Amino acid sequence: MRGTDHPDSLVELRGISKHFGQGDTRVDALSDASLAVLAGEVVGLVGPSGSGKTTLLNVVGCVTEPSSGWMSLEGEVVYDQHWLRRDLRRLRLEKIGFIFQTHNLLPFLTAIENVMEVLELAGASSAEARTRATDLLDYLEVSHRKNAMSSQVSGGEAQRIAIARALANRPRIILADEPTAPLDSVRAAIVMDLLRRIAVEQAAAIVVVTHDESIFNRFDRIFHLRDGRIVTVEEVGRARPVGAMDAPRESAVLNTIGGA
Ligand code: ADP
Ligand code: MG
Repeated sequence: MRGTDHPDSLVELRGISKHFGQGDTRVDALSDASLAVLAGEVVGLVGPSGSGKTTLLNVVGCVTEPSSGWMSLEGEVVYDQHWLRRDLRRLRLEKIGFIFQTHNLLPFLTAIENVMEVLELAGASSAEARTRATDLLDYLEVSHRKNAMSSQVSGGEAQRIAIARALANRPRIILADEPTAPLDSVRAAIVMDLLRRIAVEQAAAIVVVTHDESIFNRFDRIFHLRDGRIVTVEEVGRARPVGAMDAPRESAVLNTIGGA
């Protein structure tokens, strides 16, 4: 069957496996992973080092080709024993926003140029890119730093600029590998609030790899990995401390989808 079991899911994996190497050197990085992430959800991938978290994130991001299984993104089947799209780079530009631990800003560009770059790669004119980049830096409350060289901004500011960059092309799937690792717990909580707000306001699905236990209560669900397998799915539910983004969650998602 090719259709989706979960009509609202932005990310759906069924029986995804990934091994590296052959014979004696074979490593099963991911075994039979199945999951679905809905619009408006923020989920965590948690597990010991080597358990397959980054591999799973990179499969969803169409960076790593699985060895077998099935995957759909925004309801489009993109992998079914092989990639179904030729131009994976374009697929990533259209659908995926990546946020990395070491925020991957280009140090020789200013903050705004870093955001404009991904817009121009996707075909925006430089005037369009400038307008959208300004709005995004504003949204992330870092527009006062827009003309600073990205090598000159603080860690927290760099992470906001990196998030602006990830959001530039309006992806509905946002993937983050240890986004709070370089931050203290207060700044980590602020970044998680920001991701929550983005999930709600953009009706996005957000997948976060983390070791940071201080943010576990910020997720809707946590997928626990061990030896390449998803061993537990923990419903975190509404256990989060009350934050500005929490209250009108469902209705906000519906409003965004409905264009209200
Ligand atoms: P985590 O992010 O949870 O630390 P990874 O997904 O990076 O785990 O790695 C899972 C397993 O796959 C590890 O045993 C790792 O060594 C192996 N692995 C990951 N990437 C590669 C690769 N490119 N080549 C060979 N082995 C890899
Ligand atoms: Mg990793």
